[in-house]
Amino acid sequence: MSDLFPTYAKFPIEIVEGKGTIVKDSNGKEYLDFTSGIAVCNLGHCHETVLAAAQKQLGQIWHTSNLFESSIQEQVATKLTAGEERVVFFCNSGAEANEAALKLAKKHTGCDEIITFKQSFHGRTIATMTATGQSKIHDGFGALLPGFTYLPYNDLEALEKTISAQTAAVMLEVIQGEGGVLLATKEFLIGASNLCQKYGALLIIDEVQTGMGRTGTRFAFEQVGIKPDIFTLAKGLGNGLPVGAMIGKAELAATFGPGSHGSTFGGNKIAMVAADAVIDIIFDEAFLEDVTEKGAYFQQLLTEKLAANVVAIRGAGLMLGIELDMEAKDVVSALQELGLLTLTAGPNVLRIVPPLTVTKQELEQAANWIESVLIKQEVGMK
Ligand SMILES: *Cc1c(COP(=O)(O)O)cnc(C)c1O
Repeated sequence: MSDLFPTYAKFPIEIVEGKGTIVKDSNGKEYLDFTSGIAVCNLGHCHETVLAAAQKQLGQIWHTSNLFESSIQEQVATKLTAGEERVVFFCNSGAEANEAALKLAKKHTGCDEIITFKQSFHGRTIATMTATGQSKIHDGFGALLPGFTYLPYNDLEALEKTISAQTAAVMLEVIQGEGGVLLATKEFLIGASNLCQKYGALLIIDEVQTGMGRTGTRFAFEQVGIKPDIFTLAKGLGNGLPVGAMIGKAELAATFGPGSHGSTFGGNKIAMVAADAVIDIIFDEAFLEDVTEKGAYFQQLLTEKLAANVVAIRGAGLMLGIELDMEAKDVVSALQELGLLTLTAGPNVLRIVPPLTVTKQELEQAANWIESVLIKQEVGMK
């Protein structure tokens, strides 16, 4: 029996080594990792530049509290805000980044009402789990945080009817990752941004999964041209070293004065040097164009091979979902047998989030395996 809380239903595979897109399990079997550890290792496993930066820092100093100056925090914040009037709070995870965003919105506006969307996912702390619009995540935990309303995603009319001067924030994902790789429409995002401005509510965009180049731009909201009041990052930011960030407009800075919020480990130097190296690689036009191009190529390959046999293929950049008319977890297992690691998103969606450094050859190999499982009916024909 395991000595762990069984919070995760685990695959019977232990990954012990990785380089780029390729990982090896404890039996020596190799896989193409199209999970990137749930969209975390966006530069592939053990990326050399990130590794060298972390190793160098490990030999210098690991931890100083946030009571002391940190030039590496300042440097990463400057790169993340990239010339815009924004300020950054560093933490260690996506939930913590969203928790900080919710606290900031409540304190800044003096309001308690927060609007989020059905099928969303924002984390597992009490506040971020309350923000998550999925009853399966709420069930059994008793009273949630008050003030939250869940609206249908992409329903601008519902938002217009609900938002008011009492709304502290509207919180959303540009692509709902855990919810099923569901894309917001441009009209919805622009409309939500306009409504927030009209009522003085803060627009919080959760870029924990979609950020850091995953969809072909630094942050997914950039493709729509909106400017959220707050956005959050985590998964891809440290390429596997734990780090999160909450980025807000500069006018919010005074609301989070000394004593208002904090984190012991947030912005620690090991995570910061990793994030610094990750940003230098990903926030590069040619790198991001390559992500867009490979994503379009992969989506086209999958569409050619599968379109007639699946419900839908959708996504942006290298964040793709294939909606099936069967349980996606059976497909995940069959692909593991062949040597391809993938994820689910909800019961029927196969989620594919390879490292952004994936090669075209690896994309072709993966597309062939997915075709062989889905079309040649190795799965689902009981
Ligand atoms: C993963 C995820 C989170 C939670 O991040 P943790 O690091 O697990 O706390 C929040 N929001 C979105 C959109 C995510 O994908």
